[in-house]
Amino acid sequence: MTTLDAARGFASLAVHAGQEFDPTTGAVIPPVHFSTTYAQDGIGELRQGYEYGRSGNPTRTALQTQLAAIEGGAHAYSFASGLAAEDTLLRAVLSPGDEVLLGSDVYGGTHRLLSRVLGPWGVRLRVVDMSDPDAVRAAVAERAPRILWVETPSNPLLRITDIAGLAAIGHEAGALVVVDNTFATPALQQPLALGADIVVHSTTKYLGGHSDVVGGAVVLSEAHRDSALAEQLGFLQFAVGAVSGPLDAWLTTRGIKTLDVRMRRHSENAASVAAFLEGHERVARVYYPGLASHPGHDLAARQMSGFGGIVSIALESGAVARRFAESTRLFQLAESLGGVESLVNYPDEMTHASVRGTEAAVPVEVVRLSVGIEAVADLLADLEQALAV
Ligand code: PLP
Repeated sequence: MTTLDAARGFASLAVHAGQEFDPTTGAVIPPVHFSTTYAQDGIGELRQGYEYGRSGNPTRTALQTQLAAIEGGAHAYSFASGLAAEDTLLRAVLSPGDEVLLGSDVYGGTHRLLSRVLGPWGVRLRVVDMSDPDAVRAAVAERAPRILWVETPSNPLLRITDIAGLAAIGHEAGALVVVDNTFATPALQQPLALGADIVVHSTTKYLGGHSDVVGGAVVLSEAHRDSALAEQLGFLQFAVGAVSGPLDAWLTTRGIKTLDVRMRRHSENAASVAAFLEGHERVARVYYPGLASHPGHDLAARQMSGFGGIVSIALESGAVARRFAESTRLFQLAESLGGVESLVNYPDEMTHASVRGTEAAVPVEVVRLSVGIEAVADLLADLEQALAV
């Protein structure tokens, strides 16, 4: 198989899109291209458009083709980190004085990028609960934002936002709708098909999937195929240069090939973990969209094809939450999420420390679990012993 069209099933696209065998040797797995520069047949006569590693690299092209295919987008751009991807996108869209309407519990680093890096350059930030359409409508009517930016499920409280509804509100106001699809991944949720303009990723998480490569991506919808935005993003990727290196791109590509099976197992294990924790007397609240008790459950069931691998819980107090996070053994205490191994995180002092004291702060009682693909009985036993400490 050498080419695929977008009609193929998700798992086939994940394995094959952009992954044509090497025409010189027949190697089934495309090689990693480390060369920083490319021989020219004459001045400006390039072979397949490659000139210099920052402007283009075949391994990066392969990843970008794969990313665009799995998100159902027109173009994908890969970057050295999720935040580099976000920064390049924001600079491509915004001018001083423009406003971004941001979901209230997005990743703390996204809030920090907007408030502390782009804020001093004149970009304005407002925060709203994106899962509340009335609040979004009111905020949009008050001052027209250039971008509505949402994470659904959100980080770490797993709030669910109606992407199609948000896209309708945003488009009526002339705003671009950006969905950070890091938590759900395109295996479980397709924001562009639901009307979003742009998907962003920290590919560091589930797409890479093995906690061994940092990266990020921006994917544009079909509506933006020939847009000025597509051109500007390509220009800034080259002119600013926060690109993924060849080995990083290759590792991400390899991760994506197993995304479909991994997300199923993450979801199964997380569902068992959530059910176990919901029935535990020491757990005050479980945040998992797969639970019928979750306020966004019905919407998540319509909008997603699985509920994902992240489960957050509220314990009795901040002190109890800290102790629990330091007491698990199989769940390792670490930043990040989305790898095959289970991790535990205390957002208030770890991933979300940068938003403490702001309107995006995470309650101190909350602990976030990234449920891995280990044997579920071992995961439950670990949580049981940590809750008994
Ligand atoms: N978006 C989400 C949802 C994240 O969780 C993260 C990182 O944790 C980012 C974006 C930023 O990505 P990166 O750490 O790859 O820069």
